[in-house]
Amino acid sequence: MPEYRIIDVHNHIYPEKIVAKATDAIGDFYDIDMQHLGTGDELVAAGKNAGIEKFVVCSAATIPAQVPIINNFIAAECGKHPEFIGFGTLHPDFEDIQGEIDRMKEMGLTGVKLHPDFQKFYIDDPDALPMFKAIRDNDMWLIVHLGDDRYEYSQPERMAKVLDEVPGLKLIGAHFGGYRRWESALNVYKPGTLYFDISSSMHFMSKELIFKFFDRYGIESFFWGTDFPMWDHKEELELLFSLGLTEEQNQMILYDNFAKAYGL
Ligand SMILES: [Zn+2]
Repeated sequence: MPEYRIIDVHNHIYPEKIVAKATDAIGDFYDIDMQHLGTGDELVAAGKNAGIEKFVVCSAATIPAQVPIINNFIAAECGKHPEFIGFGTLHPDFEDIQGEIDRMKEMGLTGVKLHPDFQKFYIDDPDALPMFKAIRDNDMWLIVHLGDDRYEYSQPERMAKVLDEVPGLKLIGAHFGGYRRWESALNVYKPGTLYFDISSSMHFMSKELIFKFFDRYGIESFFWGTDFPMWDHKEELELLFSLGLTEEQNQMILYDNFAKAYGL
């Protein structure tokens, strides 16, 4: 195998105290056997073992009161692990969004993670719009869990609407922009208006469908991620390599696309 540079753009980490409970809860939510326990230390150990150089780490707040706690935790983990790029979280019902973004920036967090299905808000709810505008206006990145066939909160159509209303948002649409709603995700976004991560998806998608995404949105729009602790880094790498892309294309997805967009 060629020596690829690799960044994993989608990792969840949790404080030691609650990690077992949090990891179990997510496994139950998605009916998936979690491959790892989600601590920062385990992420670094498992990732390094698979040749991964850097990790975007995040965690979403299910209630507004958790927002500052999680942001402090993510920032502290980034202090311990120089390989981490920290994305904090917000909640549309959080009172002082701008104040919290200011705090995040002071702590070195450069993005925001949202998971509308856990956070129980519709992405295109007008009440959420000021949050999206604040993220854009403060030049923060945004990674959003998108799609699910059991819920309507995070459907691709809703995200596409927000992109129309908040042009310039630096969005990473997780899971090819719509977990298990890939037919919508393939059609609903305007090419060039967002990036995608390919985490937690390729197990369930045909090769043909994956290539349709690359054709429509351009291979430069895709970033590799594992959704740690859900999946194993080495297995996820194998899934990418099984597509039979060129070495150059693999390198783009594994590192170069993100490095260029983010400015590494
Ligand atoms: Zn996630």
